Amino acid sequence: MIPRLRPSLGAREFVSAFLARYSLEDFESAFADLAGQTEAIAFPYGRTGLLLLLEALGLKGREIILPSYTCVVVAHAIVLSGNQPVFIDSASDNFNMDLDLAEARIGEQTGALIATSIHGYPVDLDRLDAIRNRHPDVVVIQDCAHGFMSQWNGHPVQKHGRAAIFGLNVSKLMTSIFGGMVTTDDCELAARLRELRAARLSQSSRFRDMKQVIYLTAASAALHPLGFSLVNRMIKTGALDRFVKYYDEGKIDMPADYLATLGRAAASVGYAQCGRYDEIVAARRRISATYDRLLSGSPHIQPAPLVDGATYSHYVARVKDPVSLVAKASTKGVELGRVIDYCVPDFAAYRGMVPDTADFPRTRQLNSEIVNLPLSVSEAEAERVADVVRACLHAS
Ligand SMILES: *Cc1c(COP(=O)(O)O)cnc(C)c1O
Repeated sequence: MIPRLRPSLGAREFVSAFLARYSLEDFESAFADLAGQTEAIAFPYGRTGLLLLLEALGLKGREIILPSYTCVVVAHAIVLSGNQPVFIDSASDNFNMDLDLAEARIGEQTGALIATSIHGYPVDLDRLDAIRNRHPDVVVIQDCAHGFMSQWNGHPVQKHGRAAIFGLNVSKLMTSIFGGMVTTDDCELAARLRELRAARLSQSSRFRDMKQVIYLTAASAALHPLGFSLVNRMIKTGALDRFVKYYDEGKIDMPADYLATLGRAAASVGYAQCGRYDEIVAARRRISATYDRLLSGSPHIQPAPLVDGATYSHYVARVKDPVSLVAKASTKGVELGRVIDYCVPDFAAYRGMVPDTADFPRTRQLNSEIVNLPLSVSEAEAERVADVVRACLHAS
């Protein structure tokens, strides 16, 4: 089976993790260098970083604008920080939030706007900076959990706001097993965030560290056919629920360890990954171009857009019936993904928070059409994936 996700890990990551070779500070400083920012502050999850960032910014009882087409945990962090999410539909011509709709929703109560470079496609910084100029009191937070230093016309997205957040679990473009990061060029904000972190987070134990290393090993064992079936069986029996159950539609909550400091093993993996960033992004761009070449011209699939500065956290094609495509491809040894197949304000837990007048037709359209092709693959595997996808679509 060609897996839909495969963390780009080498011996360096495993050796560093087992020896717990690097500290949290080593990881933070390597990450800050990578982002070209003065400060990087590490957390156990991206959502923990966002939660404490909102608190450090003094935002409470305010409205926070965010996309309806994003990871649900972002909305969870907003609610648990004592603020109110305001969801905005997707743009008509790309996967990101419609910035005109977002600006129209800015009012007295607005505390912040979360701009997300979803699937690694850079936020339109020309339009965003115009909004920042017209509304200087609204804090802009960049959600770079998919973007990872994506660039808009050569400008790094993460620097265009008060701060940026990153998620670093194994499904992300780069990983520290779990983990999240907040970057900023504002030293005072960084100092407040570090104080909050020291006050609220508990120390990680060596036991938790080792559990994470075992999990990393299992996750990358999915690379091999044997590991893949083992991990799949563990998912089916519920043994990995703690790791793979990302959300529950009816609940707004956080994982049990969301206030535990990122451990040394995780920090060591993250540190090693910083050195691999260029290689990871170059490979994703190359495979995206390969899929584009192999799928262009088919009437049954719209290949992912190729955009300068995009980092391709996912390769997102659009088809009429993605659910049946995923099922058919899996019988032919290709695992496809469906990120993001939900519209956050449609979740039961959020229904009461969304005004009746709000509507999200473009997000729902994306939800019903998107399908991800595996990106951590060789050229030969990419050709095989494209062949299988084309065969499945023609057969239908
Ligand atoms: C993964 C992700 C986050 C943060 O996720 P954590 O699991 O909390 O680390 C934030 N935003 C988006 C868009 C994401 O995909």
